[in-house]
Amino acid sequence: MIRNPKPIHIALLVSGILALAIALVLYFVLESELINVIIIFTLTAGLSFFLFFYTLEFFIYRKIKLIYKTIHSLKTQKYDAVIENFSWEKDPIFEMSKEVINWARDKKMEIDQLKKVADFRKEFLGNVSHELKTPIFSIQGYLHTLLDGAIYDEEVNTKFLKKAAKSTDRLSDLVADLLEISSLESGELQMNLDRFDINSLTKDVYEQFEIKAKEKNIELLIKEGCNKPFFVIADKFRIRTVLVNLVSNSIKYGKEHGVTSASYYVMGDNILIEIADTGDGISQEFLPRIFERFYRVDKSRSRSNEAGGTGLGLAIVKHIIEAHHQAVNVRSTIGKGTTFGFTLKAIQ
Ligand code: ADP
Repeated sequence: MIRNPKPIHIALLVSGILALAIALVLYFVLESELINVIIIFTLTAGLSFFLFFYTLEFFIYRKIKLIYKTIHSLKTQKYDAVIENFSWEKDPIFEMSKEVINWARDKKMEIDQLKKVADFRKEFLGNVSHELKTPIFSIQGYLHTLLDGAIYDEEVNTKFLKKAAKSTDRLSDLVADLLEISSLESGELQMNLDRFDINSLTKDVYEQFEIKAKEKNIELLIKEGCNKPFFVIADKFRIRTVLVNLVSNSIKYGKEHGVTSASYYVMGDNILIEIADTGDGISQEFLPRIFERFYRVDKSRSRSNEAGGTGLGLAIVKHIIEAHHQAVNVRSTIGKGTTFGFTLKAIQ
C-alpha cells in the first residue's frame, strides 16, 4: 500500500475499481459481448480517472496546499519567502498535519505562558490591594474615632494620631517599594556603576541603624580581618538599598542581645559580601520562597509587628543584584541565625 497516496494514485485506484465493476456487471449479468465490455471498460476508466484526478487535484489538493501555505506563512511571518520557497512537490496533507501539530503545540505553550502571566498579575494585584488595605483601614479607623469625639480625650488623642501617622509611614514605604520594584522589573533601569569601598558603605548603613539596633541590644559588627577597604564596581545607591534591607531584616528578625556581622571574601573576580545575624533563623522549607514578592515566613508577625516591613525588601534585593549580573543566596539554621550573601565585581 502507498502510505501517502497522491491524487493520481487515488484517481487510478478508484477509476480502475469503478470500470472493473461496470465491466463485470456487463459481462456476467447483462452478458454483453467481450469487445463491448472492453470498450466500455476503457471509456469508463479513462473518463472517471480524468474526473477523479481533476476534482482531487484542482478542487481539494490545491485548496489544502493553500491552507498549508497560509498556516506556514502565518507561523513564520515570512510570507514572501515562504511563497517563493514553497515546494508543490511535497505531499501537502502530510506536511499540513505536521505543521498543524507543531503549530498547535506552539500555540498551547504560548497560551500556557499567557495564563501564567495573567495569574501572576491577578495574584500581584490581590497582594497589593491587601497590603494597602491594612494601613488605610487603620488610618480611617483612628481618624473617624478622633472625629467622633476622641479628639477631646487627652488620654487617647495623641496616641491615636501617632498610630495614624505610623500607618501613613507604612503606606508611604509600601508605595516607595512598589515604585522601586516596578522600575526594576520594567528593565529600563540604568545602573550607574561606580568604584567604591563596600566596607565603608556597610559602616554607613550600620550608622543609620544604630538606634534601632540599640533598642534590641544588637551589636553591629564587621567580622575580624574584614575591617579594611574592599573595592567593588557597582551602583552604589542601589547597593546601599540592598544593605539597608539586609541589615534592617537582621535587626527586625534578630534576637535581643544578638549580633549582626558583615564579612567580605575575595572570590576570583568577585567579592562575596555576607550579612549574618543570630536570630531565630528560617526553616529550610521556606528558604526557596523568601525572595518572592510579599512572601513572609510568619505572616501575622511580620505584618502586624510594629517593625513589620512591606514584604518586598528581599524581592528588591534580588532584582538589584541580578541587574548587576550577580547572585544572591541565603542559608539559615533554626535557632542559630541567617546569613544572606551576594557577590559584586571586585576592582583594585
Ligand atoms: P519584610 O518586609 O516582611 O521583612 P522581606 O522581603 O524583607 O519582607 O523578607 C521576607 C520574609 O523573609 C520576612 O517576612 C521574614 O519572614 C523572612 N526574613 C527575611 N530576613 C530574615 C532574617 N534575617 N531572619 C529571619 N527571617 C527573615
